[in-house]
Amino acid sequence: MRTATSKLIEGRTGPWEIVLGLEIHAQVASKAKLFSGAAVGFGAGPNEQVSLVDAAMPGMLPVINRGCVEQAIRSGLGLKAKINHWSRFDRKNYFYPDLPQGYQISQYKDPIVGEGQIEVERDDGTSFTVRIERLHLEQDAGKSIHDLDPNATYVDLNRAGTALMEIVSHPDMRSAEEAAAYVKKVRTILRYLGTCDGDMEKGNLRADVNVSVRRPGAPFGTRCEIKNVNSYRYIQQAIEYEARRQIEILEDGGQIAQETRLFDPGRGETRSMRSKEEAHDYRYFPDPDLLPLVLDPAWVKAIEASLPELPDDKRRRLMSQYGLSAYDAGVLVAEASRADFFEAAARGRDAKLVANWVANELLGHLAKDGLDIGQSPISAVDIAGLVQLIEENVISTKIAREVFERMWAGEGTAADVVEAHGLRQVSDSGALEAMIDQLIAANPGQAAAVKAKPQAVGWFVGQVMRQTGGKANPGAVNEILRRKLGVE
Ligand code: ADP
Ligand code: MG
Repeated sequence: MRTATSKLIEGRTGPWEIVLGLEIHAQVASKAKLFSGAAVGFGAGPNEQVSLVDAAMPGMLPVINRGCVEQAIRSGLGLKAKINHWSRFDRKNYFYPDLPQGYQISQYKDPIVGEGQIEVERDDGTSFTVRIERLHLEQDAGKSIHDLDPNATYVDLNRAGTALMEIVSHPDMRSAEEAAAYVKKVRTILRYLGTCDGDMEKGNLRADVNVSVRRPGAPFGTRCEIKNVNSYRYIQQAIEYEARRQIEILEDGGQIAQETRLFDPGRGETRSMRSKEEAHDYRYFPDPDLLPLVLDPAWVKAIEASLPELPDDKRRRLMSQYGLSAYDAGVLVAEASRADFFEAAARGRDAKLVANWVANELLGHLAKDGLDIGQSPISAVDIAGLVQLIEENVISTKIAREVFERMWAGEGTAADVVEAHGLRQVSDSGALEAMIDQLIAANPGQAAAVKAKPQAVGWFVGQVMRQTGGKANPGAVNEILRRKLGVE
């Protein structure tokens, strides 16, 4: 197990270490809710996706959705976690207007998925291990809307009963960057598996962030839990703020009160929401309306056999099969669709060159316009076409950039652009030799300088490039110049 790396924070009285454990809530990709047949989907009118079960009408009974159970198993397998063939559902009792049952059906002592672990890459390419404590299934609540009327609160139950996976990590992260990288990795794995769409803007993946601080090497401190943070940036801001707040209290001789806090993105602050409730406050007990969930081992095996290639395996394969750097491979496997695009473009081409154009130029342009690779105006075949022209010395890398810009602007394939704008590289040595002979004859001083100092050859290369509008093949130009000027 590779451990997290502490980024110590210097306080007034010495260094502090941040300790972080996350609870990720991931909405299960499913057409229907966890215990009812009501539709799940974004954008429906208020209370249009509510069955009598979701509204908790008297006498209604929950019926487990097999598809959601399968998704939880897939997720557990993808997180290299233990699948519990016997689990059960409990009622977590609390009162809130958006929870018509008066309890949430969740899993308490016996979750469907137990211990697992994942490898998380940092931006610098190194990695560390985060242990997963458990993954359990539970219902989401509805939504209270406070800003439609000054005197009333409205309730929308569309989300009530939607299946969530809660993924609980051990407190294995030591910096805000590591926490964000962990959420990114979990999101990538779930998206590969197709068990959660990972849409954080819609709240389909969000994290409760547990933060504590301690002196390096000391026992864990008291933690605060920051609820429902739904972007990488907010996760990092919330942690940085919260750690500093705790350090200040401790350095002033105070104690941390274990509590639940909210992050306010507008102010960049966390503020207290309520003192931390204990499990016994919820009066958990097994839901008498549901039998224990017993999994057929053959079914679990069949699900395991159907798993796709996961990001870590894909990264290793791209590195060994195509000779990619860890960095390029990491960028490409962050989304399965990127890796697919790369592999389609790399067929029969110089794969490293293709990786470079996809990971840098194309993804850079897409990010600037807020597009993902499925919306790319340049296809994989067209990237392959561009790379082919570079490989065959029809265009230089410098001209290729210009060609790429024109392809991005919709001017057609690389070959179209090269023809339309006469960008074909001049490799014809006859034409280049004549040009170079003329340059040497007209600039005897410069020619003499090159004989004294070979690096001065660059001046001639620049002249040839100017005269050809950048289209001369640099290799050919250098070769001819060195031969004619007699430099090594
Ligand atoms: P609860 O059910 O009350 O939220 P858990 O034991 O399930 O408590 O822990 C919730 C999360 O808090 C886990 O992700 C765990 O890793 C994290 N955690 C536990 N102790 C600490 C600590 N001292 N500092 C930071 N995170 C912690
Ligand atoms: Mg918790």
